Amino acid sequence: MKLIALPAFSDNYIWLLHDDHHALVVDPGDSAPVLAWLQQHPGLQLDMILVTHHHADHTGGLSDLVAHTGAQVAGPALENMPVAAQGLQQGDTLDWHGLRLQVHDVPGHTLGHIAFWTHPAGQAPLLFCGDTLFSGGCGRLFEGTPAQMLDSLDRLAALPDDTRVCCAHEYTLSNLKFALAVDPDNNALRDHAQTCASLRQQNHPTLPVALSTERAINPFLRSRTGPVSAAVRQHDASARDDVSTFAALRTWKNTF
Ligand code: ZN
Ligand code: FE
Repeated sequence: MKLIALPAFSDNYIWLLHDDHHALVVDPGDSAPVLAWLQQHPGLQLDMILVTHHHADHTGGLSDLVAHTGAQVAGPALENMPVAAQGLQQGDTLDWHGLRLQVHDVPGHTLGHIAFWTHPAGQAPLLFCGDTLFSGGCGRLFEGTPAQMLDSLDRLAALPDDTRVCCAHEYTLSNLKFALAVDPDNNALRDHAQTCASLRQQNHPTLPVALSTERAINPFLRSRTGPVSAAVRQHDASARDDVSTFAALRTWKNTF
């Protein structure tokens, strides 16, 4: 299986997975980058489209791609899709050319948001998590509660260490700037920020990123640790228990 990040809009990635014959894309907010790639790879057929949540920057290309390719669409059972789609939720699996994808409910950014985890043979696993987990950050809480998002991130963080996290946006550098303000003595975070800065200088994606790295550097996966919770509580007196600390951290980021 080969994994490609197709840039879209100003900072989205449309993830494309292919086996040299069939291709799958995740969250095509725009059809143009996908159709251009397919035109450059005439031996490949797009036959599956996965969607993590209903926002337009993840669904805007669906009708055009379905019209051009006839690909099947699978997305969150609890959200409206602009095209006919198979509805998926927690515990469901989807089989695609020998690859089994597992579906996780990850409410928070939106209420029906789902994520896909899969383990291609002989490769590290993959997680397509949309706007739930970002490198160094997490999605904004447009529909869900802090408690829901914390629980969703806990469940993603429990996936295998070597999982390659495929986020839907290149938000890494601005997330890491905030992370360094919250968790300044974290050496792994400082190292990762340097690595990512040089990747961006060369116009390379900072993604995918190993889940083990995220657990070491992402303040939203570390809100219960001593340094992060102390910093949040110093910043915002409403932070007391796990959920209020996570909520205060998310609010802090919104105004950073
Ligand atoms: Zn979104
Ligand atoms: Fe988005």
